[in-house]
Amino acid sequence: MFEDNSPKTSLSELGEFGLIDHLTRFVEIYQPSTLKGIGDDAAVINHKDEATVVTTDMLVEGVHFDLAYMPLKHLGYKAVMVNLSDVYAMNAEATQITVSIAASNRFPVEALEELYAGITLAAKTYKIDVIGGDTTSSTSGLVISITALGKVNPEKITSRDGAKPNDLLVVTGDLGAAYMGLQVLEREKQVFKVNPNAQPDLEPYSYLVERQLKPEARKDIPGLLAALEVQPTSMIDISDGLSSEVIHLCKSSKVGANIFEEKIPLDPAVISVCEEFNIDSTTIALNGGEDYELLFTVDQKDFDKIKANPNLTVVGHITEEREGMHLVTRGNQKIPIKAQGWNSFDDANEED
Ligand code: ADP
Ligand code: MG
Repeated sequence: MFEDNSPKTSLSELGEFGLIDHLTRFVEIYQPSTLKGIGDDAAVINHKDEATVVTTDMLVEGVHFDLAYMPLKHLGYKAVMVNLSDVYAMNAEATQITVSIAASNRFPVEALEELYAGITLAAKTYKIDVIGGDTTSSTSGLVISITALGKVNPEKITSRDGAKPNDLLVVTGDLGAAYMGLQVLEREKQVFKVNPNAQPDLEPYSYLVERQLKPEARKDIPGLLAALEVQPTSMIDISDGLSSEVIHLCKSSKVGANIFEEKIPLDPAVISVCEEFNIDSTTIALNGGEDYELLFTVDQKDFDKIKANPNLTVVGHITEEREGMHLVTRGNQKIPIKAQGWNSFDDANEED
């Protein structure tokens, strides 16, 4: 996965317009609300009586991704997921994206084609339309910025500021796998540096690596909540780890929270790889990033509607603001929850 011997066409051979045409030749329209897509001065969408949500995320080479172990197709797919996850976190349905790319001439056309293959695969899988973008050069490195649009019945919009004391805190899926996938890939990269002929055996870590390289946004959750007749009181997507998102949610809502360590959903693969790396799995779930699951709050009266659903785990509850934010450990200790970006992750074990 670290080597590339495929044919190369320089970007200058196609020119800007040729490149745009080439990259977008497989773009299809799935959404009736897309009135005009690529090819005019602007795209046109019509969400009729529904509200439109808009969100943007930018990924910068060397800051958000490392092409040594991130295949470009996966990068394209992931760049779309990062944005769709924000749309779903508003309880909305994602409908369109725009894609802006800056690439240096170090990238041949084939590389950008790979990137675009991931973007169009994501669009097809999630039935969203690529309706425009921008393509330009950069002096070094690759930058990809995606804007996603979505629609939602205004009454169903779920923001970060609606959590109330006694609401339940709910997490979708499981946590920590994407971060541990990154740890595994970084370890393999070091091995490869020492011995370029080493073939990484990632098979035992396939779930973790998949969660890191090919995350899926929770498109199903707004529909699931609607089917369960549950209107969350607040919602946020888990891009930086549970701690950081709980803090965002509590600060916006002016509330506190208790999270119970024993309730945090972990895949068995996370537990075993944490043992192998000698790291505490709770720390990983709290501070590891990029799971793209959703964190939301519901009124206690909705507990019966969600309790049996395998996609949803109640991990705690909301308290008064003055009570603060705490992790209640298995040993029944209360530890304050602190923000820990996953770059400063090395400090995260101090509280153990
Ligand atoms: P303009 O000069 O009006 O900004 P461009 O030449 O940049 O137009 O783009 C032409 C068309 O191609 C526009 O519809 C634009 O949205 C679209 N486009 C440009 N780059 C991309 C891209 N990377 N992905 C999708 N659409 C793109
Ligand atoms: Mg342009």
